Amino acid sequence: MIDAELRTALEARLGGGVRFDVPLARLTSLRVGGPADAVVTPADRAELCDALRLLARHQVDHFVIGGGFNSLASDAPIEGVVIQLAKLRKLEERPGGRLRVEAGVSHSQLTRFCCEQGFGGLEFGAGIPGSIGGWLAMNAGIPDREIGARVVELEVASPTGRRLAHLPAERLHFTYRSLRGLAPGSVIVSALLDVERRDPAAVRAEVDALLARRGQTQPLSVPSCGSVFKNPPGDYAGRLIEAAGLKGCRVGGAQISTVHANFIANTGGATASDVLALIDLARERVRAHSGARLEREVRILGG
Ligand SMILES: Cc1cc2nc3c(=O)[nH]c(=O)nc-3n(C[C@H](O)[C@H](O)[C@H](O)COP(=O)(O)OP(=O)(O)OC[C@H]3O[C@@H](n4cnc5c(N)ncnc54)[C@H](O)[C@@H]3O)c2cc1C
Repeated sequence: MIDAELRTALEARLGGGVRFDVPLARLTSLRVGGPADAVVTPADRAELCDALRLLARHQVDHFVIGGGFNSLASDAPIEGVVIQLAKLRKLEERPGGRLRVEAGVSHSQLTRFCCEQGFGGLEFGAGIPGSIGGWLAMNAGIPDREIGARVVELEVASPTGRRLAHLPAERLHFTYRSLRGLAPGSVIVSALLDVERRDPAAVRAEVDALLARRGQTQPLSVPSCGSVFKNPPGDYAGRLIEAAGLKGCRVGGAQISTVHANFIANTGGATASDVLALIDLARERVRAHSGARLEREVRILGG
């Protein structure tokens, strides 16, 4: 809970960069979720670290959200402060075939930059919606290509805001849709990524082909949170859910997509409870039908 003293201190330090009682449905692509006590959007690293220090001093939890494209916020109010780095959007070339990308850069900003400037290596990210902070925390990717493989180092704020460290790739452990090696509560501020010089037309052609394929295989016109489950080794969560007879299954306003069974769509008025009920149902039915255990990919905000 945010007391009056913390509220005043946050307002004094962040001005318009702090909002109170914010519905998280507005910050997540599924468009569900109750309010957070506060959402902090720091203008720069100093504001971020000061906000983290204030929260630590007042023993208030914080949660980071990027674009909210793989996050599910509960219906109940989230006690704590949500941090969003949407104002850290600097993206620049660095010597040695590298890009410095701040966490708030969006996937479309990065893809556009690579297409226009002729940088190859990140084409796979075309159409993976979100912020670069979210990409890194999730090790986003497509089969055989993930962002973790491109990371030279990460700039990370410690959970209490006391330090900004530059962690080389050797200290990080990227696995399938996850990044290990950061202290819980750490905030990724930027990344140094490896890229190659490539003909801009070739980058654009690959991006266009990937976007076209996505349009045919994913439900892009309804609110969703992308893949709900990780693919188990050697199989696909979507195939298993479909085989268990759940394609199109509904709970309230949430529906297992008729286009791709590993997506849950908000067809209108869905709640987080509807989505969680479908997640439980899919897990149980798949286990009963094929024996496979599905592991959740989507992150529960604050969970
Ligand atoms: C239509 C659709 C298609 C998708 N296709 C793909 C796909 O092909 N491949 C794929 O990998 N994913 C896919 N996704 C999922 C999603 O795009 C990725 O997981 C992406 O990385 C989410 O980024 P985000 O900024 O929205 O993360 P969020 O959902 O905001 O956050 C995800 C996690 O990252 C953490 N996080 C975010 N920013 C930071 C930060 N700065 N510091 C520390 N932690 C942070 C959050 O706390 C949370 O745990 C898809 C989603 C949708 C809706």
